[in-house]
Amino acid sequence: MSDRYGDFIQSSIGKKVAKNLGLPLPVTLDRFESGQRIVRGSVLIGSAAGEDNRVREAVAHVLADLHAEVYVSDDATDTEALNEIGVDAKVASSTEDKFKVLVFDASNISNAAELKQMYEFFHPVARRVEQSGRVIVIGRPPEDITDIDTALAQRSLEGFVRSVAKEFKRGITAQLVYVGEGNEKNLDSTLRFFSSARSAYVSGQVVRVKAGEAIDVDWNQPLAGKTMLVTGASRGIGEAIARVLARDGAHVICLDVPQQQSDLQKVAGEISGSVLTVDITAEDAGKQIAAAATKRGGLDAIVHNAGVIRDKTLANMDENKWDMVININLASIATLNRYLLEQNSLNDNARIVCVSSIAGIAGNNGQTNYATSKAGVIGLVDATAKQFATGGAGMTINAVAPGFIETEMTASIPFAIREAGRRMNSMSQGGLPIDVAETIAWMASPASGGLNGNIVRVCGQNLLGA
Ligand code: NAD
Repeated sequence: MSDRYGDFIQSSIGKKVAKNLGLPLPVTLDRFESGQRIVRGSVLIGSAAGEDNRVREAVAHVLADLHAEVYVSDDATDTEALNEIGVDAKVASSTEDKFKVLVFDASNISNAAELKQMYEFFHPVARRVEQSGRVIVIGRPPEDITDIDTALAQRSLEGFVRSVAKEFKRGITAQLVYVGEGNEKNLDSTLRFFSSARSAYVSGQVVRVKAGEAIDVDWNQPLAGKTMLVTGASRGIGEAIARVLARDGAHVICLDVPQQQSDLQKVAGEISGSVLTVDITAEDAGKQIAAAATKRGGLDAIVHNAGVIRDKTLANMDENKWDMVININLASIATLNRYLLEQNSLNDNARIVCVSSIAGIAGNNGQTNYATSKAGVIGLVDATAKQFATGGAGMTINAVAPGFIETEMTASIPFAIREAGRRMNSMSQGGLPIDVAETIAWMASPASGGLNGNIVRVCGQNLLGA
């Protein structure tokens, strides 16, 4: 769908008008293209003083593997330690160098006073982050910490990161990654995602990396040899998910309702996937999916993307609109998961990824049915993640919660509300289906074994429910 204001603002006159009137200034976001480098510029890394080296070493290993151009602030001991790991780190000049990525290991911060190290690292470089740059802070999950001073300091990181995400503008994102002690080796897939253009429309998020097996992958084709099923794959976000999973190497079973058959066939044909026409609320939907899975040796991932809106205020909503939205968006997911797990249709280390919505987090006018269903998806993910953590054969479950994404669904929203939804976020623009798809591909990767129970908003840090 066209974003006329966004296009106008890219012109030189548009930029001047917007600046003078104080209007939002959306920039064209960097987006990933196959074959491109993960990090398109230099990386400045830093860490809070402390004994525990585990996070900074894990970060250095990832950067060495990416052959990134790495800088440190001005601490020579850091450079030596990095050299040993294979990172040829340079000391940044005080004012000139610009950075695409800033990574700060805050895991050793253990009281309020030590938070000053956040200021000391980020303040001098706050104006030296490139457009579509990335800020990543790594800490320890506060819920795992019993010492009050340490817990409050680690929890503080959230406020810092969410504010940076709002302040830096120009397509720059900021994320906080809480990694459990001893789980540092699982950081790899998450650091790659957050430092790359794949995470273009994800900002102000807090992700937890925990225990679990991060399986080695070929990073050019991380989903090679895997079979993944996507519901609602004939158009919109589902189509983008199917295309991205296939791009990353998966065989994709594309599912949609029979009425969408021709569009579905087109998508599946273009990605050499297969077609399954079934209504996910049908009695035999589980059976049909299980049969399709068996033909291909089981599923390595299922992406529950299909969903509908039937908006009305509660007072005006007829019963059918309530039932339909709850059945498609929520009840069917619970039923299908239960059936597929019982039938062993999901392979060891399988990934379940659900599509929630920021409406499920914040609530929305005219969307009692939809927000109920999407909040329920979060409940389903939370509860299932707990089960998987204790004996789920390496399986994981996570969800994305998209904000305003440019699709047929959002094109049907009246102009004024649509324009407000599109601009009310730190990117001042709507996201694209591919932004949701890239986030799902990260969660669906065999390398993401440490991600379980995360709800990640793909919303450009939308103000709704923030
Ligand atoms: P869309 O309407 O373009 O596509 C949804 C697809 O699901 C369609 O192909 C449809 O045929 C299919 N579907 C619907 N009911 C089905 C059923 N019973 N069985 C099988 N398939 C069925 O919508 P979209 O914008 O691409 O949204 C995809 C998902 O993302 C939905 O879950 C939606 O709630 C969620 N979402 C979208 C946005 C947004 O801004 N577009 C924001 C938040 C969440």
